[in-house]
Amino acid sequence: MTHPRVAILGAGFGGLCMGIRLRRAGIGSFTIFEKAGGVGGTWRDNTYPGAGCDIPSHLYSFSFEKYSSWTRRYPRQPEILAYLERCADKYGLRPHLRLNTEITAMRYAGGVWRLTTASGEEHVADVVVSGVGQLNRPRLPDIPGVESFRGPWFHSARWDHGADLTCRRVAVIGTGSSAAQFIPEIAGVAERVLVFQRTPNWVIPKPDAAFGWPLRLAFHYLPPLQRAYRSYIYRRSENVLFPVLVNGWSARLVRRMALKHLEEQVPDPELRRRLTPGYPPGCKRIVIDSTIYPALSRPDVDLITEKIGRVTPAGVETVDGRLHEADVIVYATGFDTTGFLMPIEVTGRDGRDLHAQWSRGAEAYLGMAAPGFPNLFFLYGPNTNLGHNSIVFMLECQTRYVLGCVRELAARGARSMEVRPEAMAAWSGALSAALARTVWESGCQSWYKTRSGRVTNNWPARTTLYRRLTAAPNPRAYSFRT
Ligand code: NAP
Repeated sequence: MTHPRVAILGAGFGGLCMGIRLRRAGIGSFTIFEKAGGVGGTWRDNTYPGAGCDIPSHLYSFSFEKYSSWTRRYPRQPEILAYLERCADKYGLRPHLRLNTEITAMRYAGGVWRLTTASGEEHVADVVVSGVGQLNRPRLPDIPGVESFRGPWFHSARWDHGADLTCRRVAVIGTGSSAAQFIPEIAGVAERVLVFQRTPNWVIPKPDAAFGWPLRLAFHYLPPLQRAYRSYIYRRSENVLFPVLVNGWSARLVRRMALKHLEEQVPDPELRRRLTPGYPPGCKRIVIDSTIYPALSRPDVDLITEKIGRVTPAGVETVDGRLHEADVIVYATGFDTTGFLMPIEVTGRDGRDLHAQWSRGAEAYLGMAAPGFPNLFFLYGPNTNLGHNSIVFMLECQTRYVLGCVRELAARGARSMEVRPEAMAAWSGALSAALARTVWESGCQSWYKTRSGRVTNNWPARTTLYRRLTAAPNPRAYSFRT
């Protein structure tokens, strides 16, 4: 196979990065299927007030596509979306895009993948690369009565910009990274914001600031400066934040920093007590933000920590029987994260069902390949999410690896490659041992885990190790068919 037909699912950071890699390698036989009407993935979907990224701009971008237009240290959603649009244009990806085309099923048969779209069309590909992400399906809580509420209600990742919050009572359910970004934006606009917190988060300051024009000019005219700055942020994340996740040297430092931040920003000791987590930092995603505590301290914002009993037409009722009346409800309750390619039906060799194979928790060799599913690769797949660094770095490692696989197939004149069960078993064993050393196993509940407590989403080591492991495919880990 000299130039396999490659189907890429999703036009977010991962899918676009894969397309760019293929184009730059001179491979033009690929299509990017995107269910929505534009590129950008999560950065197209999440438009809530204040949406942005808590990883610095120069690291939350492709290493090969330096960008001197970042206006701030931490990018806001419109800037990230503009960056991705620009990448799609600059690297000639538009002709490869099939927008508004949702893949609902794919089946490996006769040595090829047959992909079915929601409208019933069929496409054939030799290689499939999934770039659907881990945070693409908003999750509503299993609280009774959600549908009964009489006012507008919506999920933070599908913000209803038509709902006017001015002088309304807004109930917000959830206090993760998304809520921490939009609560400060709506407080003061709404008459009252009622924040329902189930578990407090560790919060560390976000030293955001606009770049002044001299620095922007310097970034523009001195590319080595951008490289050096990016490298500095990357190393800081690896050397200071990663050890927190394995109870290393900086765990106490970050805990102290977070408690100091809380003490400085929340004068009321009772409120501080309710905002103090009872689990180690990093067990859940650390919130990086300097605006949420002042917002929660406002007189027109209430923090409610009583468990929610149900939603009624008039508001949110807590289990103590109290009705908290509201005009609008925003669910900042996260995503279905452990289903990975759900709800796409994925049928591999000999009729194997991917979701059945993953029924006790998703797993993939290097996070990218599963036995029984030849020529299928996952970007941002099982155990490749990060709690401490930029996911764009991982995506670059993965797309380089997948390109290596495509080249390996061509070099061998092979039709397919499939990870060997022995390689998968060795990988799973090493991964479990590494996960056992992390704070994610310390008992808290988070989106990194299945309901039964298996960590299926996170990478438990430094990203430098991941880069080494994925430098090139090891042919001994795969069986090839010609
Ligand atoms: P999340 O972190 O999963 O937070 C969901 C929130 O909803 C939690 O506070 C959770 O409480 C609460 N919740 C869920 N079900 C509930 C229920 N039945 N009753 C009461 N509360 C309930 O979701 P997210 O804030 O959307 O963030 C998801 C991830 O997206 C982040 O961790 C991060 O990786 C990414 N993100 C990143 C950025 C960024 O700046 N890079 C910004 C936004 C999001 P419990 O804690 O008790 O479960």
